[in-house]
Amino acid sequence: MDVSSPTDFIREIIEEDLKTGKHGGRVATRFPPEPNGYLHIGHAKSVCLNFGIAAQYGGTCNLRMDDTDPSGESQEYVDSIIQDVKWLGFDWEDRLYYASDYYEQLYQYAVQLIKEGKAYVCSLSADEIREQRGTLTEPGKESPYRNRSIEESLDLFRRMRAGEFEDGAHVLRAKIDMASPNITMRDPVIYRIKRAPHYRTSNKWCIYPMYDFAHCLSDSIEKITHSICTLEFENNRPLYDWILDQLNVDCHSQQIEFARLNLSYTILSKRRLIELVQKGCVTGWDDPRMPTIAGMRRRGYTPEAIRNFCDRIGVAKNDSVIDMALLEHCIRDDLNERAPRVMVVLHPLRVVIDNYPEGKVEEFDCPYHPQKTEMGSRKVPFSRVLFIEQEDFLEHPPKKFYRLSPGKEVRFRYGYFIKCVSVVKDPNTGEVVEVHCTYDPETRSGFAPDGRKVDATIHWVSADHSMPAEVRLYDRLFGVSDPAGEGDDFTKFLNPRSLETLTSCRVEPSLSGAAPGSRFQFERIGYFCVDPKDSSSKKLVFNRIVPLRDSWAKVVGQKKK
Ligand code: ATP
Ligand code: MG
Repeated sequence: MDVSSPTDFIREIIEEDLKTGKHGGRVATRFPPEPNGYLHIGHAKSVCLNFGIAAQYGGTCNLRMDDTDPSGESQEYVDSIIQDVKWLGFDWEDRLYYASDYYEQLYQYAVQLIKEGKAYVCSLSADEIREQRGTLTEPGKESPYRNRSIEESLDLFRRMRAGEFEDGAHVLRAKIDMASPNITMRDPVIYRIKRAPHYRTSNKWCIYPMYDFAHCLSDSIEKITHSICTLEFENNRPLYDWILDQLNVDCHSQQIEFARLNLSYTILSKRRLIELVQKGCVTGWDDPRMPTIAGMRRRGYTPEAIRNFCDRIGVAKNDSVIDMALLEHCIRDDLNERAPRVMVVLHPLRVVIDNYPEGKVEEFDCPYHPQKTEMGSRKVPFSRVLFIEQEDFLEHPPKKFYRLSPGKEVRFRYGYFIKCVSVVKDPNTGEVVEVHCTYDPETRSGFAPDGRKVDATIHWVSADHSMPAEVRLYDRLFGVSDPAGEGDDFTKFLNPRSLETLTSCRVEPSLSGAAPGSRFQFERIGYFCVDPKDSSSKKLVFNRIVPLRDSWAKVVGQKKK
């Protein structure tokens, strides 16, 4: 039995409820996205929390489409949500529900409220309702329709449903208290007329329940015990309880609020993410720079890394901002364990080994992981003409440059020591276009028999055997840590260098059949993923998931100085 103490305040509540037998020892949660956009990493926090709690306490977690607002909802979003939650590693078995399936039941609940004098049809305009709502310091005014007879309200509500009135002509309001210190309780609107086809119910309905009415009742219909939501719903909790109390339902779920995830250097709001997609700031919801699950999956993030991130950030009662560096740390941590190592040259510079026989090819056996022999190895061909990274060579090196330069010896990863003897320059630009070296045949093992040492080991590929590839260097989508906090036009803060596309990279031949979505460590560079959409056997395309080291810490550090 698990005797460890609960790790957060929600689990504390649940354990207490289990002890007191509050819900008969049941734990039932749900993840209730509105299908009006793709899920993002903030939603992942809620997914992990709800499914995680259900698993931990032997309960169930439902996936519920909270689809009570026809505008903006679509089947495409439903499909993406299903795919994303599955990919994150969670299983709702046969419990996929739609709030839109409850429309009739919700309507009957509303009728019940009217019959009991707890709801009335109000014929004020939306503006008038807003004006009469009062403020934090002043009570609201009662609607002139508040004391309409039950019969009249019932009749009007029925006719609202029948489509007899224009949008906005009437609404149904709960009859609570216009003087309540909690503005949410001042006769909130619970139904409105809205003529818009719904992606599931089409034109069957022209009235739709408001969130506050639909959500608590959907929870109750599904017999949810703990309805976990984000802090902005704290003021709505009394309304949640009021509705369930008035209707005297069998299952009164308990709403518990936690702090939403905020992440630096990005934006977690569907409304704003939609804007990025619609304005073409990104290539789509699954652009690898997007904080969406679809974008992160395409970029190469693993579900394990995301789940681990959600575990680490924990669950709290007050809002905070998590550093993007933590998310990047989690993916590095995961891929460090399991990504095979390969050699790729992003910016190729030709190297000719003058004393290596023309036409000769050797195959070096290179392990896929330095610590994990069980991951096996692959053969990497070595020949007279090779490519190295341009940045690994400098003709006139500064003092502490340890890599290749004229007269200097370095080690080739998994192979020989080589020494630069001369360079070839482009006569027009003066740029070094080819480096000539000699190799020491005695150093095949990576060590010199005479014990001499080199300062650096650099990676390489064989010119004839390597293959071309496109590599997309993705970086953070925004250049500032709080793009949403800087006013409304957050698109001004997009990082102009969030994508750099390199088209003349060279990859070692073992990557020829790399499966779409597979991930690698490019030695000395970072973690990369075969782009699931654009890569093919004819044209390999890799996405950078994350560099080996965090270069942003440096940038931020410099700014502070
Ligand atoms: P957004 O603010 O991005 O538009 P939303 O809250 O409108 O999101 P929903 O589809 O209603 O999106 O969210 C489904 C569930 O995910 C809700 O329970 C919500 O509280 C939770 N959720 C949404 N954003 C976050 C976040 N940043 N951190 C944690 N949970 C979140
Ligand atoms: Mg919402």
